[in-house]
Amino acid sequence: MRTPILPGATLGVLGSGQLGRMFAIAARQMGYRIHTFSPDAHTPTGQVADREIIAPYNDLDAACRFAAGVGVVTLEFENIPTATVEAIAAAVPVRPGGAALHTTQHRLREKTFLRGAGFPVTSFRAVTTLAELRAGLAALGYPAVLKTADFGYDGKGQAKITTPEEVEATYAAFAGRAAILEAWVPFEREVSVVAARGVDGAFAHYGIVENTHAHHILDTTVASATVPPATAQEAVAIARGVLDALDVVGVACVEFFVTGAGALLVNEIAPRPHNSGHWTIDACVTSQFSQQVRAVCGLPLGATEQLRPAAMANLLGDLWEGGEPDWAAACAFPAVKLHLYGKETPRPGRKMGHLTATGATTADALQTVRAARDALTRVHGSRPMPRSVGIAGDPDLNGADAEDWYRTNFRHE
Ligand code: AMP
Repeated sequence: MRTPILPGATLGVLGSGQLGRMFAIAARQMGYRIHTFSPDAHTPTGQVADREIIAPYNDLDAACRFAAGVGVVTLEFENIPTATVEAIAAAVPVRPGGAALHTTQHRLREKTFLRGAGFPVTSFRAVTTLAELRAGLAALGYPAVLKTADFGYDGKGQAKITTPEEVEATYAAFAGRAAILEAWVPFEREVSVVAARGVDGAFAHYGIVENTHAHHILDTTVASATVPPATAQEAVAIARGVLDALDVVGVACVEFFVTGAGALLVNEIAPRPHNSGHWTIDACVTSQFSQQVRAVCGLPLGATEQLRPAAMANLLGDLWEGGEPDWAAACAFPAVKLHLYGKETPRPGRKMGHLTATGATTADALQTVRAARDALTRVHGSRPMPRSVGIAGDPDLNGADAEDWYRTNFRHE
């Protein structure tokens, strides 16, 4: 058994968004110090860290300086260049390690790993040419989903192809980027399992939760999902198998589709805490972030027991459209907890915070969290804003350039 990294030590976080912020808050509660490394300044994580190291992710000198100041490194963003992870790993443990990151930061590698290891996934094909796209569609049928192999999240870099007439334009929009074509899954619901794995291989999980998405971005999570016990057991068993196979040390999330026939298909793996686990902060003995601290520091894992039924609703930048949301109105719901991430500029689709409600039942909790979110804009109202953007300017597609497009097209301050 390796020696644990104990309170008083400094923990490093690669990435500086809200996941790093909530990790840092949990770590500070336990008496650790935090350094964060990312290209940005005044970040959600940096605001609560002891030190914010600002450099591009491919700056290996800066990465080595960062590594020299910490006892262990974890991440809140998986798209870190392999060379950077390797340079840091030469000095301190990186948890989860480079192999898990390499597999999960690329959709094609991830699905190939899952299929090869015997986990259930939808049929897919690698696509690098128009001919491969046509052959893939001939094999998988319509509709199908074309996704960029790398740098995809929240539905960015993906397009649904419904008819042969759309093929060429969709391919052109991907501009030669390596892609994965997936058979469309007519799913009944989307669920996920957040789980942790310790240095010694110990496993803990938060059960199966149900997620709804709006414009491909997570909208609500309800804990627990209403699925048959056998489905919940199978999802947890798959999550455990995935964490073992990837040798994850830390927290990870496995996202699934549940088909009409009740079958589970893995859609995605996130090798870090996940938006669908935020409710654990307010409704579990050990939150997913405290669990990440324990796991990456080599401490025993904490109890994942859920204290009350819970629901989470994301707060996207769209809520600011008519002015500052009415925070007091949400706080008027006694069972609601407000979490804001310290982001200065709200933009449509940008995750600014979340609300969690607990209740006697999951239905109660969901109703309360939705009512609290509605109350935020009751005074000024809000009008719907476009939240997806084409890779080549086509509003029906989602592109990796969406963030920049929002920045240019909408001003809030
Ligand atoms: P992803 O970026 O892969 O997590 O996809 C974002 C969302 O797009 C998912 O949560 C689903 O709602 C939808 N989606 C992705 N892949 C498929 C698929 N093969 N079939 C049906 N819906 C999908």
